[in-house]
Amino acid sequence: MRRMLSSSVILDAAREAGFHFAGLARAERIDPGPLERWLAGGLGASMRWMSERTEERLDPGRLLPGARTVLALGCCVLTRAHAAPSPIALYAQGRDYHATLRDRIRVLRRLLAPQAPGVRDYAEVDTGPVLEKVWAQRAGLGFLGKNGMLIVPGHGSHVVLAVMLLDSEVDRYHSPQPDRCGRCVACLIACPSAAIVSPGIVDSRRCLSYQTIEEHGDFAEPLRPHARLAFGCDTCQLVCPWNPPGHACDDARFEPRPVSRCSLADLAGLSRERFVELTRGTAIARAHWEGLRRNAWIALGAARDPAMLQVAPLADDSDENVRAAARWALSRLPPP
Ligand code: SF4
Ligand code: SF4
Repeated sequence: MRRMLSSSVILDAAREAGFHFAGLARAERIDPGPLERWLAGGLGASMRWMSERTEERLDPGRLLPGARTVLALGCCVLTRAHAAPSPIALYAQGRDYHATLRDRIRVLRRLLAPQAPGVRDYAEVDTGPVLEKVWAQRAGLGFLGKNGMLIVPGHGSHVVLAVMLLDSEVDRYHSPQPDRCGRCVACLIACPSAAIVSPGIVDSRRCLSYQTIEEHGDFAEPLRPHARLAFGCDTCQLVCPWNPPGHACDDARFEPRPVSRCSLADLAGLSRERFVELTRGTAIARAHWEGLRRNAWIALGAARDPAMLQVAPLADDSDENVRAAARWALSRLPPP
């Protein structure tokens, strides 16, 4: 039988590897109800991968035979340099967090190897069949807010997560944190597109974050007047009292890159070459060149921002969705 691991050794190694917080939960099967109801209601929109490999999402033993422990890991992405307004959501302004967290998982493995010989693991950074927020809540990192985000007391919700399964037990597990939203409903009121359909349940079809990142076709007409950013949406986090004003972890890997200082008009008129140059190594590349320009046009139109006239010649863009977005935006300007 494999020996029991020391929780403090694992947590110290996680901090040394660069994670800002970490917690441990037993690798027990997750209640399928919430995920099944979310999928059955169509709230996952076109994220078909969420309805695939559901057994693996719910049962860690399917991903790592003999899984006993879930190590939930996270980092706060805010730095003092994030203060300026930007058309890019806060979490995406720096280097792609997937790459940063994967690098740190590699370091963690190296640190744990002498402490846990023969222990096998499976690690994921938000791209595999793992419900990171559920594990983070179970491992005591924070609680799930009514905006559907993990809220880590002391850090807030501008955090990114990773999960590592281990096939060994540890000597101490953390307890889940209780819900601490209380009677607050600030995020439900502030959400510009009424995407938070009930506490903790976000309808992706109405969510601007989903629309600007995952939806690559036409920008849904009813959502257009609510768009503010060209990538993502921070509104339900900015109003949350659990996001401490001025809080920053100042982790250099998350510092904003030059793309975050572009204006919406800059992004609407980006050449393909400039897009590649500006978004290389960031999560923004996921929106693709066409998608980022489409989103920027929509946000300019929503704000009726005359700055769009600087890029108006691109309204005859080669991409159909960019053209539609530009036409819509220009139609919102008052007559000269
Ligand atoms: S990210 Fe934006 S659109 Fe989505 S739920 Fe939050 S406030 Fe609403
Ligand atoms: S804004 Fe209020 S209700 Fe929403 S997640 Fe934060 S504390 Fe909870």
